[in-house]
Amino acid sequence: MVEKVIPIRLDEGKGLTPSIPGQLIAANTSTKDTRGRPLRDLRISVTDRCNFRCTYCMPKEIFDKDYPYLSHSDLLSFEEITRLTTIFATLGVEKIRLTGGEPLLRKNLEVLVEMLSKIRTVAGKPLDLTLTTNGSILRKKAAALKAAGLHRLTISLDGLNDDIFKKMNDVDFPVTDVLDGIAAAQEAGFTNLKVNMVVKKGTNDQEIIGMAKHFKGSGVTLRFIEFMDVGSSNGWDMSQVLPSQEVANRINAIFPIEPIEANYPGEVAQRWRYVDGSGEIGFISSVTQTFCHECTRARISTDGQLYLCLFANEGFDFKTLLRSDRSDLEIANAIMSTWSARNDHYSEIRGSNTAGSNSSRKVEMSYIGG
Ligand code: SAM
Ligand code: SF4
Ligand code: SF4
Repeated sequence: MVEKVIPIRLDEGKGLTPSIPGQLIAANTSTKDTRGRPLRDLRISVTDRCNFRCTYCMPKEIFDKDYPYLSHSDLLSFEEITRLTTIFATLGVEKIRLTGGEPLLRKNLEVLVEMLSKIRTVAGKPLDLTLTTNGSILRKKAAALKAAGLHRLTISLDGLNDDIFKKMNDVDFPVTDVLDGIAAAQEAGFTNLKVNMVVKKGTNDQEIIGMAKHFKGSGVTLRFIEFMDVGSSNGWDMSQVLPSQEVANRINAIFPIEPIEANYPGEVAQRWRYVDGSGEIGFISSVTQTFCHECTRARISTDGQLYLCLFANEGFDFKTLLRSDRSDLEIANAIMSTWSARNDHYSEIRGSNTAGSNSSRKVEMSYIGG
């Protein structure tokens, strides 16, 4: 049973006020944080709502009918998201991931995708536009998303056994409907699909081999995510984390695998492939093998707060700036100055926090996006 607390949505949408330097400089891609990391990826949470209640993310006891979700006027509009993303692109951002909550619950999301698909990077290329979804309404949405210009899709699925999956999503949602969503994405022409499986030791780790077998040779890359201590409500403790190395060992014992090179610096997943040539798998080991040193990722919450780390407990209020008469250049300068002061490296220091979990209250993942 999870303790009933009201998880923070920091300062109820107020956040810290970003500072705009007195002397403005031209937007540029060379800003680095205090640890030498540039800004290259942006995750945008388009809704804080979800139709699932995954026990590790939005446990029912807390995300119940009384939960204070954001009201529509608090959400960044598509125009505001597009403007902000355009500014981020002038600062070197090349990759955008739309997330949530469940992003496909945001009405007409394909309209936003189409707006974002027109933005160009500093090098004049389209942004790499991706989306993470629980797949529940993908059958309805896949073709429209593809036509709007979405490049890639990641679908979350924590097992193939219905009882186990239903226990994890906690809303009785069947596996077949997610698999059908994946099929719909393939039919719509999405290639390089990824499936994310959060592994919770003792809850769904018996699904590892079945999942590997199912997606092996299908062209879909399965990625195993270590259960993380995000937010303040999922009752995390280290005993429920199955280290990626152990997942890899279990798979290797049945289907031999070998590591391969990262696609680009800062790639979150470690890539492996089946020795028999039947495809790739990945491991996201945020607990046991931290990757903070190359983390180039910023996050925008549903209500326009800029978060510098998944585990941050405060955000910078860019919604108010966007709704003021500040120019794009002023906002770009505010982002550069916020990023240059960034020192976040939570996963590297997780162990030095209290016994197994973060002592301070962190923002919920459904609000800033995974
Ligand atoms: N609703 C969408 C979905 O589930 O794909 C997008 C948002 S969800 C917050 C993004 C990703 O975060 C999902 O792959 C989910 O499994 C993962 N996630 C959520 N809580 C997690 C936790 N405590 N540890 C590890 N991964 C988590
Ligand atoms: Fe919803 Fe995704 Fe969180 Fe599950 S992981 S509760 S699907 S936002
Ligand atoms: Fe990046 Fe924070 Fe995760 Fe480290 S803990 S990889 S800084 S988001």
